[in-house]
Amino acid sequence: MATMTAISSCAATSCAYNKGGCSAEAVTIGGDGASCGTFVELDVRGGLPVAEGHVGACQRLECAHNKDLLCTAEAITVGGDTARCLSYTAG
Ligand code: SF4
Repeated sequence: MATMTAISSCAATSCAYNKGGCSAEAVTIGGDGASCGTFVELDVRGGLPVAEGHVGACQRLECAHNKDLLCTAEAITVGGDTARCLSYTAG
């Protein structure tokens, strides 16, 4: 893969990596419900200084965008109470 999948928006504003969007360099999307495995609520904010997060790995094998446990979509959006990948597409 030439470039990692960008996270174009993330609505999980309570996440410690959310700075108007995802600022984790690379997140892991989990296999069960495509929830973001990097989501965490802490008393501090961390990550990159800007919201330029990417998908480092994705365990949602049955998604049409999944290849070799990586995401091949150009960009995804994350949202919902459980920070789910909203770009999941049944394969
Ligand atoms: S679009 Fe599919 S492969 Fe990409 S992160 Fe979301 S669930 Fe995983």
